Amino acid sequence: MSAARLAALIRERQPCVVLTGAGISTESGIPDFRSPTGIWADVDPFEVASIDAFRRDPERVWGFYRQRLGMLLEAEPNAGHRALAELEELGLVRAVVTQNIDTLHSRAGSREVVEVHGSIRSAVCLACLWTEDADGVLAQLAEQPLPLCRHCGEVLKPGVTLFGELLPAGALERATELARGAGLLLVVGSTLEVWPVAGLPLEARAFAIVNRGPTALDDSSLLKIDAAAGETLAAVLGVL
Ligand SMILES: [Zn+2]
Repeated sequence: MSAARLAALIRERQPCVVLTGAGISTESGIPDFRSPTGIWADVDPFEVASIDAFRRDPERVWGFYRQRLGMLLEAEPNAGHRALAELEELGLVRAVVTQNIDTLHSRAGSREVVEVHGSIRSAVCLACLWTEDADGVLAQLAEQPLPLCRHCGEVLKPGVTLFGELLPAGALERATELARGAGLLLVVGSTLEVWPVAGLPLEARAFAIVNRGPTALDDSSLLKIDAAAGETLAAVLGVL
């Protein structure tokens, strides 16, 4: 049984660091990006989610993120997020590195979370670095098409990493350091297509993958479980 095997690997190969992608949040009703029914099947990321688009047409970018923000704030953590929080509580997971911006790991109770692509928690002013939380951003967007910096009046940028932007300072360094120290890096719900995060498993001593469908690194993983994240992690927790 593969859940039992994964549970054994987590016990044997401590410390375990988890890397999550969109696939862990689809069970919370959040669409992923790259599948045929994903977000990028309908909209071009470079038109709505790139730093060039933001500079060229911030209203279009905010039109997209306003919808995302509303949807993500309503989503709830699922069994997968909760299982990872419990594994951390049990001392079996050191940290979660996530590509997701939805804050569901923190809301499920995970404490050591590295958000390598930023999050929807806040928006930032690129001129003076003032940040505004999501509630403040939504309050502004209810009255005007763009949220503005309360300090200098510039248009705020979503607190997520846009295409063409560098990852948040320190996050990738921290993620790399965690991966290098990991006895097992457990990939959950990522197809490992977006670099540099996709290279993190190769930094760890060994890695395992839970993902629906193939990933770029299936062949070099210790164990690949092709199944939904929630049921798999709940089963692993049940064994441990
Ligand atoms: Zn400002």
